[in-house]
Amino acid sequence: MHHAFSTRAVHAGRKDLHRLGVHAPPIDLSSTYPIPDLSEAAASLAAMAEGRPPLGNPVYARLHNPTTARFEQGLAELEGAGEAVAFASGMAAVSACLLAARQRGDHVLAIRPLYGGTDHLLASELLGLQVDFVSPDELAAALRPTTALVILETPGNPTLDLVDIAAVVEIAGQVPVLVDSTFATPVLQQPLALGARLVLHSGTKYLGGHGDVLAGVVATDDPAWADSLRAVRVATGAVLHPLAAFLLHRGLATLPLRVRASQAGAEILAGRLARHPLVERVRFPGLPGEDPLGIVGRQMAGPGAMLAFELSGGRDAATRLMAALRLITPAVSLGSVDSLIQHPAGLTHQVVDAAAKASSGISEGLLRLSVGLEDPEDLWEDLARGLEASQAAAPLVRFEAPHSSLLTGSRMRLARG
Ligand SMILES: *Cc1c(COP(=O)(O)O)cnc(C)c1O
Repeated sequence: MHHAFSTRAVHAGRKDLHRLGVHAPPIDLSSTYPIPDLSEAAASLAAMAEGRPPLGNPVYARLHNPTTARFEQGLAELEGAGEAVAFASGMAAVSACLLAARQRGDHVLAIRPLYGGTDHLLASELLGLQVDFVSPDELAAALRPTTALVILETPGNPTLDLVDIAAVVEIAGQVPVLVDSTFATPVLQQPLALGARLVLHSGTKYLGGHGDVLAGVVATDDPAWADSLRAVRVATGAVLHPLAAFLLHRGLATLPLRVRASQAGAEILAGRLARHPLVERVRFPGLPGEDPLGIVGRQMAGPGAMLAFELSGGRDAATRLMAALRLITPAVSLGSVDSLIQHPAGLTHQVVDAAAKASSGISEGLLRLSVGLEDPEDLWEDLARGLEASQAAAPLVRFEAPHSSLLTGSRMRLARG
């Protein structure tokens, strides 16, 4: 069966529905399951504790859930993977990968920039791993016999830096490579086909797509890694709730449409931002000069719908811009049907080491925009208003004719300056 991606997005993970005699995937909310046969249930539990699928009886919801399993099957099909393992959040998925790596060696190499939470977890000594942050150029020299994982993100959060996955896989050799592909989604990029061992998504973002679900998922072709990840999930309990799994599974059907439509909007907005006199730089893989490795068209089917832009006025200008918006919501997170804007240095990447922030380009004037499905003209009108307001003098005009004589002098002077 060689159906196109959009066809698979609609049908993936629904194989058992016909047999069940239903059209929509049923939501199984059981926390426990009746045990008619002790020895059968005991054998099933033993299998699941080692990360294998249940032998019939799911026994308990921390071990297995059929609604979640359908979403996992669907996502695996879209990534061209044998299996996928879902978690309670993207960070739970990252933690599980690091714990599974810890069983194979105590050293991890990480390529910055990474999502702030991932960077923070790696930089902390919470999981007992030794972590070196490297650029792709430094990777070969940094590999050790105990290196259990190379972790990278492309496009990177929040600067949209692109990494050549196949090149990193080649340098890493036997060492498995984990790609956080949250920004790209399987619509635009399929890292396993390029040799990555693991592909991870914060399902909270495009997969869910409507800003109402927290989730993470890891897809792999390696049965030993899939078993390890499930065993870690059983042991730590970071399971995805079946209602969330249902919403994620439903989200897969419209994923290609949502990603392509918001990408079309992002292309328009990135071009206009790049021509705006108050914008110093726009980071968007579709703009000339922003894709030095030629990733778009080769590794990625398109530039995606995330962009970041830099204002010369620093954090104050960014704050004024966000305050003036009426349509785009100032909020962290991304990949929703509605557009969201946020200030990485102050929010998502606040926890990142100051020197690393500087070298990754996470400046005080940088704003990250997740372009949603609104009409691009309406989004541009909002952004143009925000840019106008980002100029320092603008808000003070309101004080031109104050009633209080006490305040008049100083504010009048500010309004003129
Ligand atoms: C949001 C995000 C995460 C973390 O996911 P949560 O669901 O918030 O735990 C990891 N990686 C990237 C690239 C993200 O954007």
